[in-house]
Order: sequence, then C-alpha cells, then structure tokens
Amino acid sequence: MVKFGTNGVRGIVNEDLTPALALQMGKAIGKVYGGRIAIATDTRVSADMIRSAVSAGLMSVGVDVLDLGVLPTPAIQYYVKTHDDVAGGVMITASHNPPAFNGIKCIANDGTEASRMEEENIERLYDTDIPCVAWSEVGQTKEVSGAAEAYVEAVMSKVDVEAIRNAGLTACVDCANGAAFYTTPLLLSRLGVRAVTINGNPQGEFPGHESEPTADNLVDLMTMTKAIDADIGVAHDGDADRCVFVTSDGEYVPGDKSLALIARNILSMREGGKVYTPVATSMLVEDVVKANGGQLIYTAVGSPIVARKMMDGDGVFGGEENGGLIFPEMQYCRDGAMALATMLESIVKHGPLSRQVADLPVYCTCKEKIKCPDRFKEDLKEYFRSTASDAKVDLTDGIRLNYADGWVLLRPSGTEPIFRVYSESRNPDVAKARAQDFVDKANAFVASKENEA
Ligand code: MG
Repeated sequence: MVKFGTNGVRGIVNEDLTPALALQMGKAIGKVYGGRIAIATDTRVSADMIRSAVSAGLMSVGVDVLDLGVLPTPAIQYYVKTHDDVAGGVMITASHNPPAFNGIKCIANDGTEASRMEEENIERLYDTDIPCVAWSEVGQTKEVSGAAEAYVEAVMSKVDVEAIRNAGLTACVDCANGAAFYTTPLLLSRLGVRAVTINGNPQGEFPGHESEPTADNLVDLMTMTKAIDADIGVAHDGDADRCVFVTSDGEYVPGDKSLALIARNILSMREGGKVYTPVATSMLVEDVVKANGGQLIYTAVGSPIVARKMMDGDGVFGGEENGGLIFPEMQYCRDGAMALATMLESIVKHGPLSRQVADLPVYCTCKEKIKCPDRFKEDLKEYFRSTASDAKVDLTDGIRLNYADGWVLLRPSGTEPIFRVYSESRNPDVAKARAQDFVDKANAFVASKENEA
C-alpha cells in the first residue's frame, strides 16, 4: 500500500522508499496519466536510483519518459504546463527533509500538484497486479535539455528586468546544494544581479546544512550577506519551490513578512485584487493587503489547497508563511524563483529590504502544541467550538477564534497525535495569556477524557 501525503509519497530510502515501491508507483502513475511523462529530480544521492525505478515502471506500461535532469519542482511544473504533448510529471524529491529521505510527487497535465482524485487512483492501482505491455510497446526515455533555461526565461518575463538590471544589486545565495544550484544563479546573472553563492554544488553533500530554510539553519548565509553588504540574502529548500530572505543587516526575514512585502509589490501594480493564505498566517499580511487596496481570503492549510482556491477565485497572489509563494501569472504552484525575482523588483521599487521589514506592523505570535490522541481530536474541536463565547468563530481549518485584538487557531495535526494552539495579538501579553489559557483548557479536556475511558 502507498499513501500520498500533502507533498507526495515520502520515506527513508531503501527502508520505506525502495526501488520496488518506486517501480510499482511508476506503473500505477503510467496507467493513470498515460501518454508521455516528464521526470526530474533534486540533488539527493538516491535521485538516480528512484528516478530509474519510476521510469522503468512508466516504460513497462507503454509510457514514454522525458528525463529533464535536476530541476527545481516549479521548473518541471512549468515544463509540464507549457507542453501540451506531456500528460503529466513526476518529481523525485523530499523537499526539506533530511538526506536519508526521498519522495515521489505527481504533477497533473496543467502543471499543478496532482489532484486528490488522481492520487487515489494511483494508490488504488498500486495495490493491484499491473500488467506490462508487450515487448514491442515498451516506452522509451528521451533526455531533454533546456527546461531550466526556459523556466528562468519565463520568470524573467514576469518582472521589470530593466529596472532590476539598472539597480546594480548584490545578492548572497544559499541553495542548500539543492535543485536551484543552477537556475537561481542563472536567474540572478540574467537580471544583472551580482551573486555570491554558498552551498551551490549539486555534487556537494546535500543539503549543505539542515535542510529546512529556518533562521537556525541559515547562520552562514546571514553572516555572509552582512559581511559582503549584499542587498539581499536568498535561500531555498531542497527542491526550491520555497524561498526565504535575509536583509543586508544579516537579519532573517520570517516568511509571513516576505509574503506581506511581495503582496504589497503585486498590489501596487494593479487596482486591488484577492490574496489567498491559510488561516495560520499572521495578521500583518491582512493589514498590508488591506492597506494596499487588496482583499485577503483565508483558506485551509496546505499549498495545493491555496493554489486550488486561487484558481477558483481569480487571486492575484497567494502563499504560506513558510516561504511557499504562488504567482498565478506564472503558474498555480509554489515557485521559489518567482519569489526571488519579485522580491528584487520590490527592493527596486520600494527601497531596501531591511527598511521595508522595519516598516511592517508588529505582532506577537505564540505557537504551542499539546498531546492529544487521535480519538479525542474531534471531541476537543467540538468542545472549543461550543465554548467559544466572546469571539467570532471561523471553521475554515480547525477552529479560528477572531477577537477584537487578535486570534487563536486550534487545529489538530493530520499526521501526529498533537493539537496545535496558535495565538496572535499586537499585545504580547494578550497573545501569551490566551495561548496558555487554551493550552490549559485542552490539557484538562484530554485528561478528563482519558479518565472517562
Ligand atoms: Mg519544497
């Protein structure tokens, strides 16, 4: 049995994610999509093995494979979207997970993440005996070059290249030895941005540092950006669908702040527009969007959900607070290179990144979690819903309680026996007290349930 998570099928290589699993996945994917399928990988040691096994499965059911090599996830998505003769794509990546992991992620023929229905079809077929085609019908693999360059060209076509070139910017880049090792330096050089690169070696030890692009893991980038007085520091996760930034002072810019700044840049070029983000995103984004004539629409958590909502509701921009940003003019998926190009444009038009960050509204966000067995999660949700008296209740994802001076999000984890409690307010004391109050209530509720049992 295989089960798709929010970002494909992932696991430890040769323990969970074996060549046999990859082969059977390839056969199932080939049966669901048919036609010709593009495949690409990030830079993990296991990339060749998993790609070869998936490709063999695809070819065994008569599907032709287009091997695009090492690419950022958004680059293969763009390739699939712009080639009508390609029925779908497979990206071999485990994004920000440690090097022992890898994953298989499916891309629909419009370049978006595979729909849940397609994934369910693949899961169902996986458990069956999928016959191979006759020897004469076996698919072929063709190596395709140029997808990286076409992607960079497309990104450039969405920003004011002349303005960026004329600004004489300097950037410091950390690709985590990952999939953007070629595309991001290429993009910067084409935009006339002087770039100093660290962890830009695809044969280097992936990912060069702990792979989640958090402040703790980007100390070298922060130090280097400040030391060379670069206008911006840039980091990607392993497959470069996400992008985070560092100011010239070496300060890490949290993802909700870059989301707000890029939203402002996009809204400043048009009259209003809808911006989409999950209910867990800081209110500073809503403040900035409203102040710039836009409308903020909250969605459930998960970038494919944000992307689908945007497609249905003609959003101009969207994204999550982890640096995963979606630019519908380019495509309906997270796009690290688009985030970078648009942030450069924002610096040119709205001034230095450090000043833009300093001008943002300041909120205090407390993120807590409590242990809660799966069997009590629904009861706990109902308890919070029915006892919310002094707040407006939003049930978009979990329970969000909106107060005059902040909000609380109470949300069960889909994968672990925990319940998350987020609390935000401009007043740090209010945010902390409210978080503690809900943590206490939740712990007491779970304890009483356990006593009952
Ligand atoms: Mg990623």
